[in-house]
Amino acid sequence: MKRDDIGKWSPETLAAQTLFGADPINGMIVPSIHPSTTYLRDPDNQYRHGRVYSRADNPGYDVAAGVLAALEGGEEALLFASGMAAATAVFFALSPGDHVIVPKLMYWALRAWLLDSATRWGLEIEFVATEDVAAVKAALRPGKTKLIWLETPANPVWSITDIAAIAELAKKAGAKLAVDSTVATPILTKPLSLGADIVMHSATKYLNGHSDVVAGALVTAEKDEFWMRVRGNLARIGGILGPFEAWLLQRGMRTLPIRVKAACAGAMDLAQRLSNHAAVSEVLYPGLPGFAGHDIAKRQMQGGFGGMLSIRVRKGEAAAIATAANVTLWQRATSLGGVESLIEHRASIEGPTSPVPTDLLRLSVGIESPDDLYEDLATALTAASR
Ligand code: PLP
Repeated sequence: MKRDDIGKWSPETLAAQTLFGADPINGMIVPSIHPSTTYLRDPDNQYRHGRVYSRADNPGYDVAAGVLAALEGGEEALLFASGMAAATAVFFALSPGDHVIVPKLMYWALRAWLLDSATRWGLEIEFVATEDVAAVKAALRPGKTKLIWLETPANPVWSITDIAAIAELAKKAGAKLAVDSTVATPILTKPLSLGADIVMHSATKYLNGHSDVVAGALVTAEKDEFWMRVRGNLARIGGILGPFEAWLLQRGMRTLPIRVKAACAGAMDLAQRLSNHAAVSEVLYPGLPGFAGHDIAKRQMQGGFGGMLSIRVRKGEAAAIATAANVTLWQRATSLGGVESLIEHRASIEGPTSPVPTDLLRLSVGIESPDDLYEDLATALTAASR
């Protein structure tokens, strides 16, 4: 595949071919792992190969970062040691005193970091129900608000935020817009095309897809001054991805489109069937017509509504925990986006300050047969709710 042709190919083709083509020296059709921490200086004191030290970058990042930038339609992508390292690199590009709008409901570890470290560092963090555009408009302080952070669909109730509407507000107020698009993936939503400045991924999830790498990524619409500060944070703070992890990530990404499609189909099927299960009081899934953000999701997500859903167990917390204990096929574990389906009593992992209902089970649908997944979960629900 020629890099100049990127705009011509579909996501399936871009992902499968990895933009790599073949190694020009040995003809290998699979990229290599690059463990070297340092690079040779030319005798005349120049660095003509363009790389100096592996805390700044590594040729092994080029494949996954290149594919991700192409899929998101961005100018550049950067890989990080984790999703948290990627997210915090954006906040550290701000200055103490800056006002930041973040969602009330979001990935809990980032919320905890914002409340604790980011606040102590001097950022003024305001938690807003970002699915309500009017609430974001009211919270914006032009000149003072420097960043709006969104997560859509948002953990663990999968609320949907209208990226295009918030992008318009951010632009008018002179604020940057960053979107945690871990759950949507570039296969379903392209936030940059909707006006966002930066997209963030926990690449631990769907991008890698096999629950065997912790990684993060950012993609930018433009290599502007703000992005250069983010980029500097990667090399200086040093939350970089290991060479083997970068290799595993590019390997996982080759099947991203087909995995995401399978997960979406499975999640939709399960959401519909679980809506009719007597032990379930509510199914939270953006693909269901009755879901609060369904109309925006229909516009904003193409080809599916994601592989994540949550259910609320009618008989409450004890029955929810017992359901997770009774499954035999679903894996009882945190995280999401792998080929194997996971079930989790979310309030237990988030702790006593969690706003998550205690009767909620979070489901990450993998690529197994939806019939098998339903049978296992429906049986566990019935047994736990007797
Ligand atoms: N954002 C979302 C939506 C997540 O689900 C997670 C992890 O669960 C993160 C960010 C953090 O990513 P990581 O665990 O790779 O640091």
